Amino acid sequence: MTTLQKLPIVLHYITDEAMTKECASTLKEHFKTVEIMTYEEISEKTAPNGCDAIIADIVADEEKEISLIKHLHSLYPDTPLFLKVDFEHPLHLNETIGMGVTQYLSKDTQPENIAETVRDYFHTQIRNFYKMEISDDGKVLSLSESFAQLLGRDISPSTHLPLENVMESLDGRDILDHVRNAFEQNETIYGLFKRDGEEPLAMGGNIATKSERDGIDIWLTEWFPMECLERSAMHKKERLRRDIHLKSLMKLHATIGRELFLSVSADLFLQGVMEKLQKIDGNMSSFYFAQRTERLEGGISPTSFRKSLAPILEKTIDLRDKENERLYMPLYLCARHQETVFIDDISHLPPSPLKSTLLGNGFTTMVAIPMKVGEYRSAEGIMALLFKERHRYDKEEIRMWKDITTTIAIGLEAIKARQERDMLIEKLDKIAHTDNLTGALNRRRGVEILVHEISRSKRYGSTFSVIFLDIDHFKKINDAYGHSMGDTVLVQTVRTIETSLRTTDSIIRWGGEEFLIVLPETRLNDAIFLARKLRERIEHRQADIPLPITASFGVAQWQPDMSFDDIIARSDMKMYEAKRLGRNRIAY
Ligand code: GH3
Ligand code: MG
Ligand code: MG
Repeated sequence: MTTLQKLPIVLHYITDEAMTKECASTLKEHFKTVEIMTYEEISEKTAPNGCDAIIADIVADEEKEISLIKHLHSLYPDTPLFLKVDFEHPLHLNETIGMGVTQYLSKDTQPENIAETVRDYFHTQIRNFYKMEISDDGKVLSLSESFAQLLGRDISPSTHLPLENVMESLDGRDILDHVRNAFEQNETIYGLFKRDGEEPLAMGGNIATKSERDGIDIWLTEWFPMECLERSAMHKKERLRRDIHLKSLMKLHATIGRELFLSVSADLFLQGVMEKLQKIDGNMSSFYFAQRTERLEGGISPTSFRKSLAPILEKTIDLRDKENERLYMPLYLCARHQETVFIDDISHLPPSPLKSTLLGNGFTTMVAIPMKVGEYRSAEGIMALLFKERHRYDKEEIRMWKDITTTIAIGLEAIKARQERDMLIEKLDKIAHTDNLTGALNRRRGVEILVHEISRSKRYGSTFSVIFLDIDHFKKINDAYGHSMGDTVLVQTVRTIETSLRTTDSIIRWGGEEFLIVLPETRLNDAIFLARKLRERIEHRQADIPLPITASFGVAQWQPDMSFDDIIARSDMKMYEAKRLGRNRIAY
């Protein structure tokens, strides 16, 4: 089916199940050399031999898999590793995350798609693939490992050898003149190279840069397999798009930095970031979950997706619940391990509301990133990036996202710190103004309120009223049931009063068992009406003790000629009048 030329790489395929003929032949159509090995065979290997990429497809067994990955990393430290995993049983994924797997493939991935994934990887990596540095006098200064292998040379002996010698294994001497000319003219060249006894390998080269090091001019050339050039038009476009994408991310990064100082709430800050993200790339969207110790909650998304993502955003994901591991696999693993989790194809996830919601919104690729300030800090939350078109997520972009997420995390911390500070100030303010037994305002605050009310009423030509109340025979309660029962009665009396007041009214503990109620914009009649209601409620409240609990009330309306002392004195006097007349009553 494929018309592409083989990618000139050596692929190791490690499997402990018999590999299907179809899979083997498909891979062989795509790659120059495919070596199939069992787990045991690779485990016995102690020295590396040329290998450009590894696919590991072994039966899900955590221990085996981990030791395999470790072994492969020691044999081939920089070689990309594609691990086939069972997304239905993400258990072993847990352990391998963070071990440097290049990409996870689903067990169900078809051979053609495996080949496509590996090819995709090399298309983005190709720059490092065949690389040669040549000095201006035609000496080869360095070769990338794969180029050295292609030319049948070790890197060290070839260093500083003339170009001719390095390339002697290739057929066609005129190619060399070609290369030389092109160097001088700084041109792009193409050549058909052939190694002794082998099929011709189509190559193209591009004289990329001339630079200077240690006083000598160096030509750096990069060589691509021909089929890459065939696709180059497409790639150029794609690269351009990528460059724009990365530039927009950089711009976004700068904006986030600015907004960090302006935002008052974490939700609004995140919302803003995600709205911007969506604007720079219509192909993508995102959502965010705050991470508390063992939970993900408080999902946020850009406004336009709020409705359609609601089935996910409204969830609380309990990280101790194993069932959630299956249902929210990428989010769960990201939060659990504080690592970026990349799902190239959402349709490979096990069936879940998460999967169907994302697919239903047309998303293909998902990346879950922990928002944390540093390696050793836990995340504020996790952000999931969603892409409609299948997204390749290369090193450059990952690095950029790490920077961006760090900035976001710093932003979240800064906002949190600001909020904590404001809350503390508010709390201290409240403490300074509240009576700590009853929660009523204290006398200091009461004085402020009265002063304010007087000046306001003077300015606007309005009025206000006050009620002064004193609990009757309170001493008896203390004497008979103890001071702490007295305290309880005080607290309960305040509760009873509070439930009858408007939010603009204030209750102030004026003294031991004396309270002042300030009623803005209230005339005497209405204040009397309220005082009657309070008297009745206090009297009929279900008490914990057999003694009756009642209070006496003095009510007064402020008159324009009254001073602060006058209004207090008047209500106090009226309260004493009520006491004199037999208590549990109102005077005005
Ligand atoms: P009257 O009806 O004339 O107001 O009689 P009374 O007993 O309520 O008045 P008095 O002023 O003689 O006594 C008030 C008592 O309130 C005395 C004091 O020990 C008590 N008291 C003041 N503050 C508190 C408090 O915070 N908790 C308790 N349990 N008692 C308090
Ligand atoms: Mg009293
Ligand atoms: Mg008293």
